[in-house]
Amino acid sequence: MESANHVRVSSEMLQSRRNESGGIRAAYLRTALSLVCLTVVLLLRATPAMGLEHVYRIVVADDLRTVTVEAQLAGGVTKLQARNGTTSRLEGLRTCDDMPLRARGNGIITSESNSCVRYSYPLRSSQRERMALPDDVVVSIPSEWLWLPSLAEEDRLRIELEVPTGLECSVPWLAAGPGVYYLEASPLSSRGAVIIGRFSQYDLDIPGGRLRVALIDSPDNPLEEINIIAWLRSSAADVAGVSGRFPNPQPQIIVQSGESRRDRPSRSAVPFGYVIRDGGETVRFYVDAGRPLDDYLGDWTATHEFSHLLLPYIASEQKWISEGFASYYQNVLLARRGVYTEENAWWRLVRSFRRAAEISRPPALNDISERSFGEVRMLIYWSGAAIALMADTRLRELSGGTESLDTVLARLQECCLPSKRTWQGAEFFNKLDELSPYPIFVELYEKYAHRRGMPDMVEIYDDLGIKPAADGVILASQAKLAEVRRAIMSPSATQSAL
Ligand SMILES: [Zn+2]
Repeated sequence: MESANHVRVSSEMLQSRRNESGGIRAAYLRTALSLVCLTVVLLLRATPAMGLEHVYRIVVADDLRTVTVEAQLAGGVTKLQARNGTTSRLEGLRTCDDMPLRARGNGIITSESNSCVRYSYPLRSSQRERMALPDDVVVSIPSEWLWLPSLAEEDRLRIELEVPTGLECSVPWLAAGPGVYYLEASPLSSRGAVIIGRFSQYDLDIPGGRLRVALIDSPDNPLEEINIIAWLRSSAADVAGVSGRFPNPQPQIIVQSGESRRDRPSRSAVPFGYVIRDGGETVRFYVDAGRPLDDYLGDWTATHEFSHLLLPYIASEQKWISEGFASYYQNVLLARRGVYTEENAWWRLVRSFRRAAEISRPPALNDISERSFGEVRMLIYWSGAAIALMADTRLRELSGGTESLDTVLARLQECCLPSKRTWQGAEFFNKLDELSPYPIFVELYEKYAHRRGMPDMVEIYDDLGIKPAADGVILASQAKLAEVRRAIMSPSATQSAL
């Protein structure tokens, strides 16, 4: 029943919300939009930005092979860098007064008197990307071609981007009007993507935000767009249900056909997804195209990836925290949506906790990055999930059900997300205690972060009335915290209202 609803809503949306090109529009459109655009820009300028604002004008060549950048730099900038760029690929490097400029070492050296810089740089997809892309789409890496001054948290770039007429453009930066964006400091967790070419783009309104979705077809494996859109909306609503609104007001979402072969089909409808925090927050998915809608709606990948955005980016050596919280929520939220029964959701958690506990010679959680990923994968994903369950249970028990992990993460979202920087694990747990009427988080961190392997779950299973068996769980209705157990997997008031 729910699936049918999704299809209907999405169908209307596909017709009404089809996006315009993100680049330069025809002149008449530009004139018509200029007032709106000016208002948006004035509003944004009126925000208390106490830092520097640099203005970048970026023009993409018609053949999509080159990008030309004019950077007007505020304040005493003396060096521009692109963390994945190479100075030898810079072309036509000059001041805006047409004086020659030199790149030295790994940067473009400027001076306060030459605070306007021009250059061109090759625009290209990586070798790996090219294999899966149609000829008329470029997935470029801005950390190669966007040469930047160092950005303090309060600084920003105003970017005016011009792409060839008729082409779409998908960027991670904050959209402020047609072809106008703001880029701020970000954790630089991976390489962001700017996509230009012929592909489908949709703006999907979700509670508290808008997903900016780019759908890139592979020629022999076309996406069923209506199914993809319904699945993204549903997964985003799962995560918005934690606090009442999605944790990022306008994330960039990129969906591509995966490389599953007909003779060896992928088991999962969404074999792979990941989050990038570089110039904004991006979630990329590779899907097995052509699956029926129910396969996507029953897949946990998008709910897991979107759940990452409930937390700031935490240092990669401590990925057991972010992976753990996302893995916990992927099960809880699919149960709340009715994809899993309560019993099935607990079995999925118990089974994963058990497999994580079977790792031989487990490291301490905070030393997990010293071991190979394959060796400790289950511990990375499920140790933090066990701690998230402990925190959620304890908060619900202490408060009589008015507090939970959801309520604390909702406050975190209010104060601190999206965050522009990398957090340390201890700092994250400290902040959660600050935001909670019951300071339970640091205690859990201190107890488990330095301990080897999985937390012992015997006591919490007993309290919640979860009896693990060989191939399932038995839920005890008379257990001390049976009500808490049911509440964890039931839609919260905010989620029901969405
Ligand atoms: Zn993850």
